[in-house]
Parts: sequence; C-alpha cells; structure tokens
Amino acid sequence: MIPLTLAEVAAATGGRLDAVPDPAAVVGAVAVDSRQVGPGTLFVALVGARSDGHDFAAAAVAAGAPAVLAARPLGVPAVVVADPSAALAALAAHVRDIARATIVAVTGSAGKTTTKDLLADLLAELGPTVAAPGSFNNEIGLPLTLLRTEPDTAFVVLEMGARGLGHIATLCAVARPSVGAVLNVGSAHVGEYADGRLGIAAAKGELAEAARDAVVLNADDPLVAAMAPRARGEVITFGEDAAADVRGADVRVDPLGHASFDLLAGGERHRVTLGLVGTHQVPNALAAAAVALRLGLSPTRTAAALGAARARSRWRMEVTRTAAGVVVVNDAYNANPESMRAALATLVDMRGVGRAIAVLGGMGELGDAADDAHDALGRLAVRLGIDQVIAVGPAARRIHLAASLEGSWDGESRWVADADEAVAMVVALARPDDVVLVKASRSYGLERVAEDVVTRF
Ligand code: ATP
Ligand code: MG
Repeated sequence: MIPLTLAEVAAATGGRLDAVPDPAAVVGAVAVDSRQVGPGTLFVALVGARSDGHDFAAAAVAAGAPAVLAARPLGVPAVVVADPSAALAALAAHVRDIARATIVAVTGSAGKTTTKDLLADLLAELGPTVAAPGSFNNEIGLPLTLLRTEPDTAFVVLEMGARGLGHIATLCAVARPSVGAVLNVGSAHVGEYADGRLGIAAAKGELAEAARDAVVLNADDPLVAAMAPRARGEVITFGEDAAADVRGADVRVDPLGHASFDLLAGGERHRVTLGLVGTHQVPNALAAAAVALRLGLSPTRTAAALGAARARSRWRMEVTRTAAGVVVVNDAYNANPESMRAALATLVDMRGVGRAIAVLGGMGELGDAADDAHDALGRLAVRLGIDQVIAVGPAARRIHLAASLEGSWDGESRWVADADEAVAMVVALARPDDVVLVKASRSYGLERVAEDVVTRF
C-alpha cells in the first residue's frame, strides 16, 4: 500500500481523530479482519450480519493497529466516521488518486476470476501488477484490493461482480477503471434481477459506460456486443467471430482438457496452448489478451504469457489423472447454467476411449429460474451424450428426473442422496480411462467427492 498518515486517512474519509496520540503515525496496510492486523495496519470496523468489527477494535490495537476506522469513539485510537464501509471506499479512491497505476476491471457472469488472473500474468510482463486475491469483487474486496497499490504499481486488475443494477457503477466510482472487459451475460444471480438476462446485461454494461479509455467486449455474446453504443471510450472486440479485433481460431482440446487456439491480433497469428482446462477458457484468454494488447504488450509476448499462465484457484477444473488411469475433474468451486454447460462440454471433449461421468449437484442463487435451470441441465447432459449422470442431493433431483425423461440415449442417470453415496457410486462405476467431472455450487461441498474419488483410485 502507499503509506498514509492517520491525519491523511482522516482527511480522505472525512473523519475525525479520536484518542490518537500521533496524527503522523503511518498506516501501511488496511484490514477488515482483526486477525490480519499487524504493526501499521489500519483496522476497519465493519458491521456484518454475524459480527460487529467494533467488538474487535481493542484486539486490533493490541495487535499493532495505529488506529481503528470506526463509527464511534471506542476508547482506543480511532478515525471516527459516519459509515466505516463508505470510508473504506473513500480511502481506496484517495489511494487511486495519488497512485500512478492504470486500473483495469473485469466483469461478466462467468470467468471473471480466471480472466483477472490471466490478465495479471500478462500485465506483469509490462510492469508491477496488483490483482485481487481470489474473488474479491464486491464493495469490500474491491477497495481492499485498490488499497494494496504500491508507489511503483503500474497496473491494478480488479474483478467486479454485479448483484443488481447500479452495483458496478458504484464499484466504478471507486475504481475509475481506464480499461474494462465484459466477458459474457449469463444467468448467474439471475434471481436478483427483475427482468432476467436483460437486467444482467444492463448491469454489466455499466462497466462499458465507466471505462475511460477502452472497453473490450465479447463479439460472440450478443448481449455483450450490444453494449458497444454505451461505451465511453474505444471499443475493442474479442471472440471467434471473424470480425473480432482480437480473434481466436482453430480451437482444439488435448486429452487432459487443455485448449489451444490461434491468436489473431495486430496482423499477427500465434498458436497458444493454455495451461487451463476447457474451451470456455479461450474467450477468457482472448479478453485478457485484448486488454494487454491495448495496454502495449506485443502479440508475441501476449501469446507466450498466455501459454505460461496456470490456474491459481483450487477446485476449478482441477484435473487429476489417478494411478488407476481415471481422470477426475474437480470443478466443485461454483456452478451456474453457463459454467455447467462449459464443464459438460469439456468433459465430452476430454472423453477418449473411456466414458464421461458427470457427478452434478445443485446450482444456487437462481431464484424462480431454479427448477427450469436444473431441468435444462438434465436434458443437456443427455443431448451431449454424457455416459453416466450422477445427480447428488435434493437440489439435483430434477437434473436426474429431466435426464431420465428425455428419452432414448446410450447413457444412464442416477440420483444419490449425499456426497458419501456419490463417492460410493463413482467407485462402483468408474474404470480406467473414464473421465469423472464433479460440479455443483460451492454450498453443496462436492469438492470432497472429487478428493475422495482421487484417493480411492
Ligand atoms: P464468481 O462470480 O463466483 O466470482 P467468476 O466469474 O469469477 O465467478 P471463475 O471463478 O473464473 O468465474 O469461474 C467460475 C466457473 O465458471 C468455473 O466453473 C469455470 O470453469 C466457469 N467458466 C469460466 N469461464 C467461463 C466462460 N467464459 N463461460 C462459461 N463458463 C466459464
Ligand atoms: Mg470470481
């Protein structure tokens, strides 16, 4: 972080110093979790659903915090503000103002974290780069990421999640991105929008309006391509579409699921083999490439850095080939209709001489669309020719019923009650060369199924 004095923190947040012995004391980091506080860390007391940060103020000061950003005097050194979460955003905006870094933001229904991580690898070729850890994409995680900007940081890569209209506009008011990327409009969190996918498109398009210099838009996704007229800056398109500015062509997949493609940009053509799994990573790679090219990375170096990038997060299309020759794909980190479709398509791409076995749990946060989405997933599994569908848990029962009702098909569908039964079923069914995909929303905890299956073979 760019060091700030407590007096500067008070000025930036409109707060007043209370019980502060030394206004010139320096803050070198910011935390919202008192367990992450060390000497020089400003502790922000947020009020959450389960806990109130103000209860941990004394612990934070004992751990070395020069002060607490708080809503009331607490008897320990504090910067007192009306709303600590708004003050956190104001502080982040202040750091953004005094930093030299170019801010880049990524949004979309699926692939934000993957694209953010790819982009951080690409931009690191050009200069010191700060990226959000994990999926830090909301009104807390985004300012915390901005606050990690160092005096020499050249690029900050942010992830923006939208949980409703105006949410991305609010994040953009804090971040003021120079370049934005909109990946896709799917149905993740569709339950939170009154007008479905059009509402989601309206929300994600707020990034096109805010990105000051350029926005990169997916030419293959009509709802994203349609955001072009809303763009404040230059529009750069990516995709397999022949007219895309940054184009992918001749996409292929190897037996462990790694996708390769030709990157066509700036009049050059380079073959890229990704270390990431699934053809759905190709648009993510193209989006990252489009941003990096716009910021000055050459096509040759962009292609090389894309090929060198590796997944950073666990349980996301994590492929293990066991000693017995069963390939297990653990994608139990999250699920929505688009990522389910991408994962099933990858499973089919990866199937060689063995069978494709899909262990599927429920998809959360779909609201009224949930029943239809689970039915559609069951039908999709049949249409793609998945050999064995194992639906796990009550929320996934409809997947099994829809697959069973879909009519004649060489595969089979089953339903099991829980993760333990799912492991037993896979152990009974799987043979060498089979590929087993495990996928569900995070809350169903199916990563354990994939991990257990790996240890059994
Ligand atoms: P979140 O909203 O949970 O932060 P995210 O947008 O950051 O998600 P990732 O974490 O990158 O997305 O990927 C989540 C899931 O979406 C993974 O299962 C991944 O395989 C799948 N996925 C990634 N990119 C795409 C894409 N372009 N199209 C469809 N599915 C994708
Ligand atoms: Mg994410």
